[in-house]
Amino acid sequence: MNSRTKKFLSYYKPYLGLLIADLACAFVVSAITLMLPLCIRYITINVLEGNSQSPLSQIYAVGAVMLAMVIIHTLCDMFISYKGHMMGAYMESDMRRELFDHFQKLSFGFYDEHKTGQLMTRTTNDILSLTELYHHGPEDIVISVLKFLGAFIILMYIDVKLTLIVFLFLPVMAAFAFYYNKKMNVALRVSKDRIGDINAQVEDSLSGIRVVKSFTNEHVEKEKFAYANKRFVDSRREGYKSETYFHEGLVGFTQLITITVIVFGGAAIVDASLELADLLTFFLCIGILIEPIQRLVNFARLYQEGITGFDRFMEILEVEPDIEDADHAETITQVQGNIEFQNVSFRYKDRYGYVLNRVSLVIKPGEYVALVGPSGVGKTTLCSLIPRFYEVSEGRIMLDGRDIREITQHSLRKNIGIVQQDVYLFAGSVFDNIRYGNMEASEDEIIAAAKRANAHDFIMALPDGYDTDIGQRGVKLSGGQKQRLSIARVFLKDPPILIFDEATSSLDNESERAVQDSLERLSNNRTTLVIAHRLTTVRNAQRIVVLSEDGIKEQGTHEELLARQGAYANLYHMQLTI
Ligand code: ADP
Ligand code: MG
Repeated sequence: MNSRTKKFLSYYKPYLGLLIADLACAFVVSAITLMLPLCIRYITINVLEGNSQSPLSQIYAVGAVMLAMVIIHTLCDMFISYKGHMMGAYMESDMRRELFDHFQKLSFGFYDEHKTGQLMTRTTNDILSLTELYHHGPEDIVISVLKFLGAFIILMYIDVKLTLIVFLFLPVMAAFAFYYNKKMNVALRVSKDRIGDINAQVEDSLSGIRVVKSFTNEHVEKEKFAYANKRFVDSRREGYKSETYFHEGLVGFTQLITITVIVFGGAAIVDASLELADLLTFFLCIGILIEPIQRLVNFARLYQEGITGFDRFMEILEVEPDIEDADHAETITQVQGNIEFQNVSFRYKDRYGYVLNRVSLVIKPGEYVALVGPSGVGKTTLCSLIPRFYEVSEGRIMLDGRDIREITQHSLRKNIGIVQQDVYLFAGSVFDNIRYGNMEASEDEIIAAAKRANAHDFIMALPDGYDTDIGQRGVKLSGGQKQRLSIARVFLKDPPILIFDEATSSLDNESERAVQDSLERLSNNRTTLVIAHRLTTVRNAQRIVVLSEDGIKEQGTHEELLARQGAYANLYHMQLTI
């Protein structure tokens, strides 16, 4: 058994009791189905043909037995349908949770490569198709095998020759089913990819709807969507075509078998080598013999849908997080905030060139260091290496003398606060969003953090104050307001190390002042690395580091760097003249 099969079966584990009950019910249902034609045969031969002394009481007795069997059959069927489906739903929910938990482990690199909409499809649609398989799979197999074998035995008992004639058709039927089933599966797999594309397209267009409208590019989005939509329809066309051949073919075979039995069975009755009661039973049993084939066909479809869903599920689940804690990783608590880049080189996975080349840099505890340099030179990249969002390609980064790879990611990131240009706020209230910085914080602490972030006044002016719903991603707030909420969040987190990445770059002058003010308050007594585009905001830094394509070009205070008349002086004068 390969590891995926094992994994597939492992989801049954918590529900073994349910599974066994489900299979027992399936067994009873099949047995009763097989017994009913035998009861009918019994009545026909022993009672209706006048072989009994007390025919009426026998009919009542057999009728009562059949009624009891039908009631049990119904109860078992109900159990299968209700509890069996719920078992599938529980298993599906377990898997969905496991996948979501796994998403939380994967690093930035993974999300650079995957579209959100595609990942959403994997968490919903793909897993959905598994419920049916998990529930119907085992029971379908039990029912099919039992009914098929049972019907076969009864048929053989009644008439060997007629049974063998029926069985001549079965291999052809099976080969036919196998061929078209395979075609259906390929189409299904493609369909699943295409629906993922549609979701990705919707996610992308709707997330960017404000950009779409401002560029009046609705038609572009419509076309992109229409294309994805059409490709999906095309893939379904293939699927339905195969499915139609498949079904009609099987129905045709069934009818062919029926006709054959009528012809040969009728001839046998004329010959007096077969009784009418037996032909009747034979017909009833052929229905039971063919039903498993149709059930298996249905199962094959469920299986394919479920398995493609499962494969896609496993594809993600098997992605190893590329950044993991070392076995001996330590949890850090008392952080001084001494950060040291030692010959650090870095390149993104899918890129040829290095973004950072042998960068060495020391930031002392409590120091306020500004990082400047042209756009695209790797400032953001450098910052994202400190919390280990990406792993250095060469060299190492030390925190308080310890390689950050020897520190648990959790405790490392607990000690770093980041304020970026693009603020991400979650749908919910102001309270919820600030509390994100420390889920244990009290309301008073949240308000105190908001005050220190210069956010309290504007929050109080919102319709419901701290309970105001800020809309998806905080759309109901201005840029400056969002930024101040994100700073309040970091105040609450209270980390010894701070990174500000162009935190004020997209703000107007007035909000910039308010944000700058709160950032300075935040950076008191903490190691702070600031990336700023506007050099006027970095003038006061204790040290300014100029990053260029070939590493760190110069560093010093504003005055020192101006006096050097190097890269910094050039940048500075260029900005003054704009
Ligand atoms: P800066 O912040 O200095 O403007 P960045 O660190 O954002 O520069 O980017 C440095 C280089 O790395 C750029 O050439 C950019 O295209 C590339 N880059 C940034 N992020 C990624 C990513 N997630 N995957 C691949 N390349 C990236
Ligand atoms: Mg940047």
